Amino acid sequence: MVDLGKKIDPVYIRPNEIPKEGLTLRCDLPAIQMDLNSTGVELKNIISVDLAIEKFQELVTIEGEIFTTLFLECGRCLSEFTQPLKVAIHSQFLSDGEGQTEDESYDGSLEIHFYSGETIDLESLIRENVILALPFRPLCRESCLGLCNRCGSNLNNGPCGCEAEKPLGPFSILQDYFS
Ligand SMILES: [Zn+2]
Ligand SMILES: [Zn+2]
Repeated sequence: MVDLGKKIDPVYIRPNEIPKEGLTLRCDLPAIQMDLNSTGVELKNIISVDLAIEKFQELVTIEGEIFTTLFLECGRCLSEFTQPLKVAIHSQFLSDGEGQTEDESYDGSLEIHFYSGETIDLESLIRENVILALPFRPLCRESCLGLCNRCGSNLNNGPCGCEAEKPLGPFSILQDYFS
């Protein structure tokens, strides 16, 4: 394993330049580089990348971890909070130069990606993995009490006083009549 230093642009991997013993890629990417706007999640921090890259014949294997901090909005109380995110990476790449396409399964493995040209786009690999790891419904904590649906107060800050009132909808009299 050699530390890559400045040999390659950190966002791309050039399979032709991977030595037999493989290489290690450790770097911090500015989060701004990862455009996650489509997900509504902002990454204000850096993304720390720690990957081992190996090439066996034509197959490139990328393994390791990426680490960052997510800035999320709680799905219940709408407050902002941060959450560390660590994602394990395990991906394999083949050049699409042999005329293989992604829909024709290679060895039945779904984990193989295809790259075209001379480079593997590390940025989209990282982006893909971060997006897959995003929480489906972020919560500032499991026990978040959310907002009062009457007055909108954040109930994590204490009771708002609405609970004492009896819920009374405009049709409650009719419901009584028909029941
Ligand atoms: Zn919350
Ligand atoms: Zn209330």
